Amino acid sequence: MAKNYIIEHMEEGMHDWCKLEYEHMVSVCGPEHIYFTALTPKTLADMPETLAKAHCHTEDIMAMSDRIPHQRVCLLDPASPHVLSPGDAKEFDFFLFGGILGDDPPRDRTGELRKLGFATRHLGAVQMTTDTAVNVTRRIVEGQVSLDEIPFIDHPEIKLRKNETVTMPFRYIALSSTETSSIASSEGGSSKVNETEKKSRKPKLPQPLLPPGMLELLKKDNDMALDLL
Ligand code: SAH
Repeated sequence: MAKNYIIEHMEEGMHDWCKLEYEHMVSVCGPEHIYFTALTPKTLADMPETLAKAHCHTEDIMAMSDRIPHQRVCLLDPASPHVLSPGDAKEFDFFLFGGILGDDPPRDRTGELRKLGFATRHLGAVQMTTDTAVNVTRRIVEGQVSLDEIPFIDHPEIKLRKNETVTMPFRYIALSSTETSSIASSEGGSSKVNETEKKSRKPKLPQPLLPPGMLELLKKDNDMALDLL
C-alpha cells in the first residue's frame, strides 16, 4: 500500500542542493505521496514547478493534525532506539523527515521534531541525505525489505573531473553495476571499449545513488570554491 512522506522544511529558502534532493523524492515516490510542510510564504511562492505538483503547505506538521493523524505518523530520527522495519507499514501511513541539509558533523537539528512526541524509528547509525532517507524508508515499508538488505555506500568519493574528487560525509544507497552503467550511458559516459581494455580495467567501485543533477551542482560548487582560492 502506498505511504506518504512528509518533509518539514527547516532551511531558509530553497537551496539548489535542497531542490535536487526534493525533486528526487518526488520522482521516486510520486507527487501525490509527498508533503512539503512549514514552507515560508516566499518559498511557497517561489516553489519550482516540479515540486509544486506535491502537497505544499506553509502550515507545519503540528497544524495539520486534522488531516494527518498523529498516531499514524513516524518520525525518522537517527537518535531513535528502534530501527524501522517492514512491519511498521501496519503501524504508520505517514513518514516524517527533517527538511535539513545534512551538516558534518550533524548538529541534531532533527531534535526539534523529536520534541513533538511522534513515534520514532532510525535507519542506522550513519547520517543520510533526506532523499536517501526517504528512498530507504520507502523500500522498507512499501518494498518490504529490511534495512540490512539494502546496499549502502558511506562517505563516497565522487569523481568530478580527472584529478578532482569530493568526499560526501553521508550514507547513500549503492547502485548495482548494471544501474551504474545504465546511468553512465544515459549521461553519455559510456565509451565503446574493446574486450582487452575491459579486462585490464580495475573493478568498478559501487556508485552512490545521487539526485539527478547533483554531480553537475557539485562541479559548479567546486569550481566556485577553486575560484575563491
Ligand atoms: N544534519 C541533520 C540531519 C540531516 S538528514 C541533523 O542534524 O539532524 C535529514 C533528515 O533525514 C533527518 O531529519 C531525518 O529525518 C532523516 N535521516 C537522515 N539520516 C537518518 C538516519 N540514519 N536515521 C533516521 N533518519 C535519518
